Amino acid sequence: MTTLSSPAARIAEPAFRLEQKRRIVGEFPGPRSAQLAARRAAVVAKGVASSVPVYAADADGGIVRDVDGNSFIDLGAGIAVTSVGASDPAVVNAVREQVGHFAHTCFMVTPYEGYIAVAEQLAELTPGDFEKRTVLFNSGAEAVENAVKVARLATGRNAVVAFDHAYHGRTNLTMALTAKAMPYKAGPDGGFGPFASEIYRVPMSYPFREENPSITGAEAAQRAITMIEKQIGSESVAAIIIEPVQGEGGFIVPAEGFLPALAEWAKAHGVVFIADEVQSGFCRTGEWFAVNHEGVVPDIITMAKGIAGGMPLSAITGRADLLDAVHAGGLGGTFGGNPVACAAALAAIGTMKELDLAGRARHIESVVTERFTALQAELGERSIIGELRGRGAMLAMEFVVPGTRTPNPEATKAVAAQCLREGVIILTCGTYGNVIRLLPPLVIGDALLTDGLDVLEDAIRSVGA
Ligand code: PMP
Repeated sequence: MTTLSSPAARIAEPAFRLEQKRRIVGEFPGPRSAQLAARRAAVVAKGVASSVPVYAADADGGIVRDVDGNSFIDLGAGIAVTSVGASDPAVVNAVREQVGHFAHTCFMVTPYEGYIAVAEQLAELTPGDFEKRTVLFNSGAEAVENAVKVARLATGRNAVVAFDHAYHGRTNLTMALTAKAMPYKAGPDGGFGPFASEIYRVPMSYPFREENPSITGAEAAQRAITMIEKQIGSESVAAIIIEPVQGEGGFIVPAEGFLPALAEWAKAHGVVFIADEVQSGFCRTGEWFAVNHEGVVPDIITMAKGIAGGMPLSAITGRADLLDAVHAGGLGGTFGGNPVACAAALAAIGTMKELDLAGRARHIESVVTERFTALQAELGERSIIGELRGRGAMLAMEFVVPGTRTPNPEATKAVAAQCLREGVIILTCGTYGNVIRLLPPLVIGDALLTDGLDVLEDAIRSVGA
């Protein structure tokens, strides 16, 4: 039986501040958004692009409301961040409470309990039954940079292995780790280089685009390992870094056995195995971390995005012997582990536990998968859906020219644009720009989710027709 305050009741009939209903009230984008766009053009650099032309005024549960009063169904969660919603009451209260006491002292000057409490949570939640240490930062890229710093210093080696289709950030080192040139590394007349050295790229397991479609995960891992051994030499490799489900690259789920084989090889050769769970972590894939699906235990995990209910916080958690190899003062940063962000993280993690948001992600997976598998079957050879894939509430459709595997970025853009006009925010991704990704807040109610999927299905039918 569910009571009104029970987690099940909170999910079934969530008491959100904003009405959980899609509504486009007038012209689109509306006049207030148009005014803001004009002000923006005069002062904000155009290198910072936005996916949608409307400006946010409020957001709650599965809804983003713009400055003109339009309510959009949010199937992007600010790129996998607001898993507990954009204004989870627990997060809001924790932030208010903390900021009323102190917003900052700098953990490297006067430390505080929140930082330690977050590290305790991460030691408990991340896989691995060994002593762990944590360091907190501000962004995903910063976490990745620091995981690499730790691996290099602890091993005394330089080389870092990254994968095709990888995305790890936009700072200098993480640009080098990221695979896609445009827009992250290159520009129309040159690029953002020179890039960091000692980064090597090897092939990913990308089942939909393998030349040999029957290649197993273990064989795909061996293909990468052979390249590492022949071209770098295992004794020179400090770390392998991999997203267990690749995010920006196209929500690519490697073939079963790929990640365990890589992790095993890394262990045998003293190579630090870093799982970049910045996008896939914190219940998003239906487990606390995506590596859990295959029982892989990384040496270091990088985390950000969903960790703190929308506040900027990132972390690395890993083997104590690796992290403690770094001398005092070798790691840190002014804002890293900000007390308000820590309070938000503790509240967000509490909400994830209380509402079993990992279970909720698995529920979302079953709703979406059932529906779009049926659509794909119905449309058959005429379908622009090349593949439906993902884990939990990290799901995607790769669009192709019907009957081929040729990427179809035009259809992808058209589907996302039609959804937006109808009041649904949907993000695209992929090396070939041909993937629609679904990343709803995990607290989204069933009725709202279904309405959003109705709009998406209509868009696929009309664009694909
Ligand atoms: N790693 C992964 C897997 C990511 O998806 C991202 C962000 N999309 C990053 C790192 C970089 O995170 P941030 O934008 O917070 O620097």
